[in-house]
This record gives sequence, structure tokens and C-alpha cells, in this order.
Amino acid sequence: MKYLILLFLCFEAKAFTLLTRNPARYPSEITIRTSDADCTNAGLTAKGLREFVERAVDDYWNSVPTSRAKFKLGPTITIPASSTTDQMIALGIEGEIIVGCSDNATTFTSTSTLAKGGMLTNTAVGVVAINDIANTRFATVDELSRVSTFAHELGHAIGIGHSRVEYSLMYYAVVAGVVNKYLTEDDADAITYLYPSDKELAGLGGACGSVDLGNDDDDKKGPGSFVLTLLLGFLITVVAQKSKDLIQP
Ligand SMILES: [Zn+2]
Repeated sequence: MKYLILLFLCFEAKAFTLLTRNPARYPSEITIRTSDADCTNAGLTAKGLREFVERAVDDYWNSVPTSRAKFKLGPTITIPASSTTDQMIALGIEGEIIVGCSDNATTFTSTSTLAKGGMLTNTAVGVVAINDIANTRFATVDELSRVSTFAHELGHAIGIGHSRVEYSLMYYAVVAGVVNKYLTEDDADAITYLYPSDKELAGLGGACGSVDLGNDDDDKKGPGSFVLTLLLGFLITVVAQKSKDLIQP
């Protein structure tokens, strides 16, 4: 019976992916520092951005009882609007995720990209950047989509890659008209794998050896320019395609 349970857990763990095989772990309390500046093109005030982040953690990642990781908001931080994701993440110290907007044309080369999220390879510092270039699509998406975008990118900021489970928050595509209001079991499995609240579960996923890296076919399409210093191959790009809006890495 024990083996059956283990196999079941291994099977479940296979759907989500990680940015690296063993991402750096944050302290159980993960500090999010939001920008103190308004995002002019994205239509977000500094206060509004902070409220979206708060909803993203309360409604999604902080709601997993099997995970010990808890996101909390720290002091705001000054981030120049033209910062690249590299420059944004450099503002953080270990255990922090820097969240703000960027109108940098190198970081955001398309208006249809909503946001980017990632973390350093060997240190627990993360970044979430909202696309704030002129005519950014972020300005046009509804409130729930904004909240779920923050939640999706925060998942990347702690090392979670894209999932193959349709309708999961970390799925690489968004089905038209469907907004992930809550985490799916697969998303909960991902954060529980990284931050199990029960010590007896720690390492179980690793023992299965079945968690794939976040570099499946879709991810390989993305430019690898950040790989050396940042794992930022993941971002949300909305592309109309029949019944689906694809999120492309
Ligand atoms: Zn993504």
C-alpha cells in the first residue's frame, strides 16, 4: 500500500516543472518588495500594484496548507522605470522578490508580453516585472487576469516552471475566457515539493527523480539570453490563436 501511495505522488509530481533541478530555497517567509513608483503605461499605481500582489499571494500561494512557504509584503523599494530584469533583481537581497514595472525595450520587446518572472540560479532572489512599455497589453486586461498574472510570475520567482496540466496557474497557455481564480492541485504540488510543511515529505519528490526541468518544447522557443545569470525564460505573452491565448516563454 505504501508503494502505491508513493507511485501516486510521483505521478502527480511529474506534471509541474521547475526552473532548475534544485532551485535555491527561500526562507519559509518570503519577502516581496514592491516598487514605490506608478506604472504609467500599464495603468497601475504603486498602491494598486501592491494590492494586486497581496491578492496574488492571499488567493493563491499562501493558501496551500501542505506548504510552509508564506509570502509577505516587505517595505517598498525604488526601482527606476527603465530597469532591466537583471537590474531589478540586483536590488534584492537573499530571501526577497523584487516586483515592479519595466519600460525597458530590451526586457520587453513586445506589447503582448504581460510580465516576466524568474529567480537567480544559485541564490534565493526573485523578480517579477510588469510590462510597462507604450501600448502594453497589461493595461487592457481585466482585474482577475492581472491578479493571476502576478501569481503566475511569483511562481516563477520561486523556481516553478510551466505545468502541462491544463487550467493550472502555471500552465504555459491560458484558455480563452478562463482565468485561474485558484491554484489547482498541480500548482499546490509544485510549491509543496519545494516547501513541504511536513518534514517527512521533504525530498520525496526528489527521490522520484521524475520532476522535469522547465525546458520542454515550448520553453526552448524562448531566447536564452537570461540563462547565464537569471532564469527568465518564462514570461506571459498573449497571442490570439483560435480558441486559445498562448503564453509563450
Ligand atoms: Zn510563465
